[in-house]
Amino acid sequence: MALKKQPIDQLTSTCCYCGVGCGVVVNKEKNGSITLTGNKDHPVNKGMLCSKGLNLHYTVNDKSDRLLYPQMRYNKSMPMQRVSWDDALDRTAAVFKTFIDKYGPDSVAFYASGQCLTEEYYVVNKLMKGFIGSNNIDTNSRLCMSSAVAAYKIALGEDAVPVCYDDIELADCILVMGGNPAWCHPILWRRVEAHKAANPAVKIIVADPRVTDSCANADLHLQINPGTDITLNHAIGRLLIENGDIDFDFIKDHAEGFEAYSEIVFKNSLFDAAKTCGLSESDIRLAAKYIGEAKGFVTMWTMGLNQSAIGVNKNLSLINLNLITGHIGKPGSGPLSLTGQPNAMGGREVGGLANLLPAHRDLSNPLHCEEVQKFWGGKPIQPKPGLTATEMFEALNDGRLKAIWIMCTNPLTSLPNVRLAEEALKKAKFVVVQEISNKPETLAYADVILPAAAWAEKEGTMTNSERRISYLNKIVEPPGEAIADAEIICRFARKMGYKGFDFENPAAIYAEHVKLTAKTNLDISGLNYDILKERKTVQWPYKKKGPPDGQPRLFTDRNFYRPSKKALISAVPDTLTSELPNDDYPLILTTGRIRDQWHTMSKTGKVNKLNQHYKQAFLEIHPDDAGILGLKELDIVVVTSRRGEVQVQAKISAQIKKGVVFLPMHWGKILGNDLNRANNLTSDRVDPISKEPDFKYCAVNIKKFVKT
Ligand code: SF4
Repeated sequence: MALKKQPIDQLTSTCCYCGVGCGVVVNKEKNGSITLTGNKDHPVNKGMLCSKGLNLHYTVNDKSDRLLYPQMRYNKSMPMQRVSWDDALDRTAAVFKTFIDKYGPDSVAFYASGQCLTEEYYVVNKLMKGFIGSNNIDTNSRLCMSSAVAAYKIALGEDAVPVCYDDIELADCILVMGGNPAWCHPILWRRVEAHKAANPAVKIIVADPRVTDSCANADLHLQINPGTDITLNHAIGRLLIENGDIDFDFIKDHAEGFEAYSEIVFKNSLFDAAKTCGLSESDIRLAAKYIGEAKGFVTMWTMGLNQSAIGVNKNLSLINLNLITGHIGKPGSGPLSLTGQPNAMGGREVGGLANLLPAHRDLSNPLHCEEVQKFWGGKPIQPKPGLTATEMFEALNDGRLKAIWIMCTNPLTSLPNVRLAEEALKKAKFVVVQEISNKPETLAYADVILPAAAWAEKEGTMTNSERRISYLNKIVEPPGEAIADAEIICRFARKMGYKGFDFENPAAIYAEHVKLTAKTNLDISGLNYDILKERKTVQWPYKKKGPPDGQPRLFTDRNFYRPSKKALISAVPDTLTSELPNDDYPLILTTGRIRDQWHTMSKTGKVNKLNQHYKQAFLEIHPDDAGILGLKELDIVVVTSRRGEVQVQAKISAQIKKGVVFLPMHWGKILGNDLNRANNLTSDRVDPISKEPDFKYCAVNIKKFVKT
């Protein structure tokens, strides 16, 4: 009888892809490789994993693309040379000091990632804001969640997601807007599907210009015109008021702004709103009826609302529906923004964006700046927000910024109007790239390359979309001389001569972060690594002597974090400020994810199984538009915008709205060439408050490719 192969070690961790935050059990095999399964005891996924999570171990076992040692060159025409960690960090520190002395601290910047662990975010934020003396630390979460962050702050007083995933199973109406969770947050969506299957009376509404897999379970699909979300939400709000389906007591006692809101939603007739949105009046009425009848109402959204030049207002218009119906702060009800990255929320907790301070403190509040400066013992904190993601690359282009340190992200595929970012890196005086893979396009522009440890090669914590903090075990050693990102930043800080970066381990970094949260709304002063290792996962706030699993819901006492303790119902205008189509660029381009790839494919692109779903980039186009252009399925099309060009295969589908085309955002030079990169085309307009780019709307022209 063959003996069953036993792993030598079994440890828990959390999937490092999307913000659902599924728990995994990782088996370490005798040969040092790993296998994994979904963690049956984890409250998020109860053993389930999606295609990306199931194949996560391949990305760790395959070391063929890993960066193994630090590299450096003295000018861009030289080849990269292998160097020691000391040489790489000494030189980087010397260059940073020179720029800071000559041009000031705002001449350097860090651009990090929602994939960084909380401890990594903490130390880089402390280094930049507390010691270098600049707020030029931003992350790719700017491209993902910053509109939701700003909207929560305006509506509820703080960046605080009020609900937990268990509210899904308690809701009897779920409105999904600007998202395709069936593909992008699959395990959470399976919970929605299971809830609907067990309770057919539960109503699911999906608002999206495309017929996605998320529509398969919907009672109502509102196939709206791109950019018309606010008009739709206002029309639903108006009907809820007309039908008397609002919570008058909640509005009177716990909210402000209702009068101005009523005024604005009654400006547009239902007829006009339906016309603008490309919907029937009866469908909007039906949506309002489902919401009005619900005892528990959850709104769920992601990039369709966030990645917009009016992203904050779109978010506010949706949160308004929870507020006017009083569906917040009680089981089965509330707004649930879904984060695209595994630790976008953890980054926000430690202040890891150019306009934030730790524990949701505010840069514009002098008392908060003073408090953090005293705690860190560094330089006075500058009250002015630093450069955001897109602003950093603009500042490299015009010379204000001299040096950039890119950490754990691939901006040359993911930034909008990406040719500008390429120009920016060409002009940068000094570029540091801290990476796990030798594939990202940024490496070609680097002066110093620092090899980082990957998922499963370091310990730390992440927070998912429901404020759930999870502990990630270190399971295997990193290859070559790669080290954990937090250790890289701390070593660099010490080379710069700064005190306060001699942490013994990630637990010590976490303990410092915990101290800064005391007496804030994010209070996790009852938490430490021992508790996290034992319980694996808890939800913030986690106060001393609080519940052992933390707090599942916020605002159950209906006291919001605004000074008045009341939530704000915002009367937002529905004016679209995106780049509109015209005769030269007659179609609207929207970009997004596909089921089996994640971000710029530096990890998922390594897995054959995941590359089978779609082997190459494509342009989804409606049959009527394809007919006008004389296109057949799989024809190569040339897509142009005012900024660039893409050449990909046509995928003709009646599932997209006429006049709209869709390109997946994943492809770039890593698996292909720069002619399949969606961000050659996208607009560099950003939301004026959140500075989040308008990835979901720009004008394009399409022609059939003709060989010359
Ligand atoms: Fe990972 Fe997200 Fe899939 Fe869960 S749903 S396994 S967190 S990618």
